[in-house]
Amino acid sequence: MATAKKVTKKKSTKKPRKTWQDDIKTMLLQMRKELLQDVSESMRAESDHLKHDIGDFYDHASNDRDRELALMLADREREKLTHVDDSLKRIDLGTYGICESCDEVIDKERLMAMPFTKLCLSCQEDLERG
Ligand SMILES: [Zn+2]
Repeated sequence: MATAKKVTKKKSTKKPRKTWQDDIKTMLLQMRKELLQDVSESMRAESDHLKHDIGDFYDHASNDRDRELALMLADREREKLTHVDDSLKRIDLGTYGICESCDEVIDKERLMAMPFTKLCLSCQEDLERG
């Protein structure tokens, strides 16, 4: 028998108990799902507009404005998605929750409230004080 080339990844059952990082990961994945839904919805609205435009050649100006709005929204969502992906990547790398400025561990409560933050509270305060 040939050795199976495709090794199906079995979920390790001896994983340590759920950590708060898992909670944040779950939260981020949920956020990601919702964002992708939003983006695909606005993209669908966008293509509806395009279909409409073909038979509606003269009334372009107002449609353009609508389209701009839809694109702007999608941009903001895409930006948030970037933050979500970045945070998820850092969770996988094990660098999530570590202050970029002083290398201290960021408070769990702070991360729960602001999952994209890369600074601990005191560094953030220093930054704001200037
Ligand atoms: Zn810090």
